[in-house]
Amino acid sequence: MGQNIMLTGMVLSAAPVGEYDRRVTLLTRERGKISAFARGARRPGSQLMAAGSPFSFGKFEVYEGRSSYSIGKAEISNYFRELAEDVANACYGFYFLEVADYYARENTDEIHMLKLLYQSLRALEKESLGNRLVRRVFELKAMAINGEGPNVFSCLSCGSEEGLPWFHVRRGGTLCGNCLKGGKAVPLDASALYAMQFILTSSIEKLYTFTLSEQALCSLEQVLDEYMGFYVDRRFHALKVLEENFMFATQAAGKDI
Ligand SMILES: [Zn+2]
Repeated sequence: MGQNIMLTGMVLSAAPVGEYDRRVTLLTRERGKISAFARGARRPGSQLMAAGSPFSFGKFEVYEGRSSYSIGKAEISNYFRELAEDVANACYGFYFLEVADYYARENTDEIHMLKLLYQSLRALEKESLGNRLVRRVFELKAMAINGEGPNVFSCLSCGSEEGLPWFHVRRGGTLCGNCLKGGKAVPLDASALYAMQFILTSSIEKLYTFTLSEQALCSLEQVLDEYMGFYVDRRFHALKVLEENFMFATQAAGKDI
């Protein structure tokens, strides 16, 4: 016996099915990541058209069938339309959706991931925040929510909390100057270290309240590129598009995108 349930969530991805339908992946507060059919969503004028579009956030009334969910109604409260107006912004947004899809599971508590995703997409829409920084804040917090956050509060070898200028990717954290001892580690700028500590301890609501110097941001980028390269076993499509089309040109021009 199926039943109607109300879910709050966001569309992570949507694919056409048959002539008029869409199959969507939803990240929900109540059921984690689920797959659902939006029947007739591709018919002109369909009430489910928005429910079949990535980034749509709101309430979804779904019918739980034996093997899949079907969306009956959707009340979308935020479409994140401003994101779509800028191609680079949209690429970052799609990258965030892919990361959320990578980490989220069905029937697990994804409240924090959903909240992080929502706040991070809003941060992309704000002109005052550079997207390069928003991306790194999102990446580090997403990893931490999923139990893969590094230890950046003390030296992994001696426990010292003073002066932690090195980040050891394989060991997953910081080392002091005395404990590096010829090992391989990435240099970590002091402001970048402080930013990582802030990101890991801050509530999601307060995450996007700081800026970084170019030097600190570059250090954070280097550490997270290596850390994610080691722990994340997926190549994200939107990131590839971003790197190929936007990052080199705008960084060369000294512009933040
Ligand atoms: Zn040490």
